[in-house]
Amino acid sequence: MVPDIFHHDFTPTPYWWEAYRPRAGELVDVPPSVRVAIVGGGYAGLSAALELAKHGIDAVVLEANELGFGASTRNGGAVSGGVNTGKRFTGRTADVEPERSERLLSDASDAFGLIDRLIGEEEIDCFWEKPGRFVGAWTKKHFDAQSRRLAALNTAAQSGAYMVPRERQREEIASGYYFGGMVVERSGKLHPALYYKGLLEACRRRSVSVCAQSPVTAIRRTGAGWRVETGRGAISAGDVVIATNGYTGGLTPALRRRVVPVASHIIATEELPQDLARSLIPKARTLSDTKRVLCYYRMSPDGRRMVFGGRARFTQVDPTVSAPILHRYMTDRFPQLRGVKLTHAWTGNVAFTLDALPHMGQQDDLHYCLGCNGSGVAMMTYLGWQTARKIARVANYACSYDTEDFPDHPLYSGKPWFLPVVGGYYRLRDNFDRLLS
Ligand SMILES: Cc1cc2nc3c(=O)[nH]c(=O)nc-3n(C[C@H](O)[C@H](O)[C@H](O)COP(=O)(O)OP(=O)(O)OC[C@H]3O[C@@H](n4cnc5c(N)ncnc54)[C@H](O)[C@@H]3O)c2cc1C
Repeated sequence: MVPDIFHHDFTPTPYWWEAYRPRAGELVDVPPSVRVAIVGGGYAGLSAALELAKHGIDAVVLEANELGFGASTRNGGAVSGGVNTGKRFTGRTADVEPERSERLLSDASDAFGLIDRLIGEEEIDCFWEKPGRFVGAWTKKHFDAQSRRLAALNTAAQSGAYMVPRERQREEIASGYYFGGMVVERSGKLHPALYYKGLLEACRRRSVSVCAQSPVTAIRRTGAGWRVETGRGAISAGDVVIATNGYTGGLTPALRRRVVPVASHIIATEELPQDLARSLIPKARTLSDTKRVLCYYRMSPDGRRMVFGGRARFTQVDPTVSAPILHRYMTDRFPQLRGVKLTHAWTGNVAFTLDALPHMGQQDDLHYCLGCNGSGVAMMTYLGWQTARKIARVANYACSYDTEDFPDHPLYSGKPWFLPVVGGYYRLRDNFDRLLS
C-alpha cells in the first residue's frame, strides 16, 4: 500500500525546477567548426566553456537533452569545501597517501574559493550562503574517526572544522539521532537550478554556443583534430572535452568503464509551520551523516521546507518508490515531521569512480572531467575550469586531480548490475554498526 505522504500538489520533478526548469529554448545552430567541443551541458561543461571564452577560445557546449537535464539542476545544493574528497559511495574514505591527500584537499578547498568567486563575478542570484555543514556521526566509532580527521581538514583545506559532542548536538539539529558530529564552517549552500541558470547566462553573455537536443553520437580523429557527430549536424574541433559525469554512455566506452552511475534521490516537504521550520536546523547549515548509505538535507532557500536526500536505492527508481523510503529516513531523524506531506520527489545520477576521487585528464587524447563521487557542485565547476585552463595553456600549476591513473576494473564494463546488491549489503552493515555502538 502506498503510504499517505503525498500532498495533493505532488509532482515527481525537482523542487528546484519551480525556479528554473531545464529547457531547450530556441535551438542554437551547431557550428560547423570550433576550437573546443564540449560534450555535456552541466556545471562542468558550462564552466569549461565560460573559462575558455574568457581566454578568447571559442567553444560549443553540446547537450543531449534540455539545458540542465543532468544532476546540475537536481542536486541538494550543499557546497563542500573539500571534506568529501575520497569518500566512497559506501561511505568509507579512500586510502590516499598523506602527501597526495593534502594536495587533493587543498585543491578541493580552491574549488570552494572558485565557486564563491564565480558567483560574485557573474552576479549569479542563487541564494548562495556560507552557513557551514554539520556531519552527524552514526556511531561512537565514527565520531572518533571524524575527530582524527580534523587536523588534516583544517591544515590542508582550511575547513574551520570542529567536533560537537552528543550533549551539544541540539545546537545543530533538533534531533537526538546522532552520536554528535563534526561542524565544517567552510561549506555553503545554493539553489542548484538557479546557479545553473546563472552559469548558462554567463556563457551566453560571452557568445558561447550552448546547443540543446544535440546528442553526440560519434567522435572521430581527423588529422590534428576531431570530427564530432551530433544529432543536429557534425562539427570539426581542435579539442574535445567529455563532461558527461553520471550520464556517461557508450559514446566513450573507455570512460564509461571508469565511472559507476549511482542514483541519488531527494524529497521536498510541503511548507511547514514557521516555528517548526525554524527549529529543525537552528544554524541553517547543510547536514549529512557518516552512514555508508548516507542522507543529506537542508532547508529550502526560503527556510519553509525540508529538502531531504539520500540513496533510498542505488539505482533509478520511480520517485513514488524512493519517496516513502526517504520520508521514513527523514522522520527517523525528525519524528516531529511525521504526518508532513511531500510536494516533490526526484532522482538523478552521480558518478562514482573506483578510487573514490574526481578525475580530469586525457584518455585517447580526449579531455575529460568526471567522477563527482556525489559531491560535485563546487568540484565539477572546478574541474571544468581547470580543464579549460589546461587547454588554454594558462594553468600555472598541475591540478592534483589531473593524473594518468584513472582506474578501471576487469569485471566492470560500464553496466553496474551489482548496485542493488551493494546497496543492500551496506544498509545491513550500517544497521549492524549501530547495534554494536
Ligand atoms: C540527487 C542528487 C543530489 C546531489 N547533491 C549534491 C549536493 O548536495 N552537493 C554536491 O556538491 N553535489 C551533489 N550532487 C552531485 C552534483 O549534482 C554533480 O556532481 C554535478 O551536478 C555534476 O555536474 P556535471 O556537469 O559533471 O554533470 P551533469 O550535470 O550530470 O551533466 C552531464 C550532462 O551530460 C549530458 N550527456 C551525456 N551524454 C551525452 C552525449 N552523448 N551528448 C551530449 N550530452 C550528453 C547529459 O544529458 C547531462 O545533462 C548531487 C547529485 C544528485 C543527482
